[in-house]
Amino acid sequence: MEKKNIDWGNIGFGYMQSDYRYVSCYKDGKWDDGQLTTDPNITLNECAGVFQYAQTVFEGLKAYTTEDGKIVCFRPDLNASRLADSAKRLEMPVFPEDRFVEAVKQVVKANEAMVPPYGSGATLYIRPYMMGTNPVIGVKPADEYMFRIFVTPVGPYFKGGAKPITIKVSDFDRAAPHGTGHIKAGLNYAMSLHAIVTAHDEGYAENMYLDPATRSKVEETGGANFIFITKDGKLVTPKSDSILPSITRRSLMVVAEKYLGMEVEHREVALSELSDFAECGLCGTAAVISPVGKIVDHGKEICFPSGMDEMGPTIKKLYDTLTGIQMGTIEAPEGWICEIA
Ligand SMILES: *Cc1c(COP(=O)(O)O)cnc(C)c1O
Repeated sequence: MEKKNIDWGNIGFGYMQSDYRYVSCYKDGKWDDGQLTTDPNITLNECAGVFQYAQTVFEGLKAYTTEDGKIVCFRPDLNASRLADSAKRLEMPVFPEDRFVEAVKQVVKANEAMVPPYGSGATLYIRPYMMGTNPVIGVKPADEYMFRIFVTPVGPYFKGGAKPITIKVSDFDRAAPHGTGHIKAGLNYAMSLHAIVTAHDEGYAENMYLDPATRSKVEETGGANFIFITKDGKLVTPKSDSILPSITRRSLMVVAEKYLGMEVEHREVALSELSDFAECGLCGTAAVISPVGKIVDHGKEICFPSGMDEMGPTIKKLYDTLTGIQMGTIEAPEGWICEIA
């Protein structure tokens, strides 16, 4: 397969138009067969449910070229089931989970020329999403929907190594009342944009959101879950109904326990105990793990001594093991790697 003429080592984390995308439409109570299309534009009625009531949900995953030249993706079945949960929460029809995985494979294969080669640092980001398409003016769910998947090659999340970031304890709550925090839906993300822009303006890389009821417990950031390492080498990760169930975080919990023999605690984490941890990281599909060196809570600085200048040693081990599994240099648990080509 002839690859596109792209400078793989120097692409950023952005959108680059690929040749093919997948589309399937829902009408009269059923999904059509779905197909690939070359048209990147969507034309919809001005009153479509997605525009009026933000009835839209999405997912994000990646395809990689492994060391032995295969194209694979990581646990797409979990993205399929999370999209189904998101759809149910917004009264949208579920796109069948087996068809989701097949559609991911089909669109990646069609865009094989844009899958970054092994060792380039770049990967193919895959964005499945779904929206209400017919006109709705009363507050109610749409009757017609479109499910689509596009792909775009993305560079490493960090240029020149993973330098630890500084984040702030946010003054804002993500508007995630009544349990909408655990879905990937357009409305939740739009509600976090003001907090992100504010944090960037103040010189921080990200926000730490707290539980809105007591503002004393750690939740997550706008696009990643937290992991902490205790001084005696345990992995601690916050538990709450309003945290997005990150596939990366769930995978890291298994890697810590089964591959590295670490103890893992999935429990409530108090803001007041942060200073007891040795290392802190943010985990998600985009960066795998971003090390956090410092958290600022309204002027009070919490520093993680073993992760201020570079990724801390335990987080580095977790990162190397998970990326080794994804790139095919370390044997994966059953069912984690989905072969595409
Ligand atoms: C996508 C996302 C994550 C990370 O989830 P992964 O499945 O690991 O990519 C965490 N939190 C939020 C709010 C997210 O949108």
